[in-house]
Amino acid sequence: MSTQADHDNPAEATGHTSRRLGLVRASRLAVDRVACTGHGVCAQLLDGVTLDEWGYPVIAPETVEGPQGHAVAETAIRLCPARALYLR
Ligand code: SF4
Repeated sequence: MSTQADHDNPAEATGHTSRRLGLVRASRLAVDRVACTGHGVCAQLLDGVTLDEWGYPVIAPETVEGPQGHAVAETAIRLCPARALYLR
């Protein structure tokens, strides 16, 4: 199904279609700071994650790069005890 916006901007239409089909991979790891319990599992698994003075993660923008970066990030997401990590 296409929308009027798809017809107005073909490049944007391609992006919408890719997102609908799940073909676009998110590239930034983020943390839900309300859900995070600050135990630091993510910092042990991911090179780009450090912990602040209270034990909560600080995530470098380049943490998820390439297929291997995605695989490691997805593992960290699965292992986060608070389900606080996500890709955006
Ligand atoms: S593993 Fe999850 S709960 Fe633990 S510090 Fe990282 S984001 Fe927070």
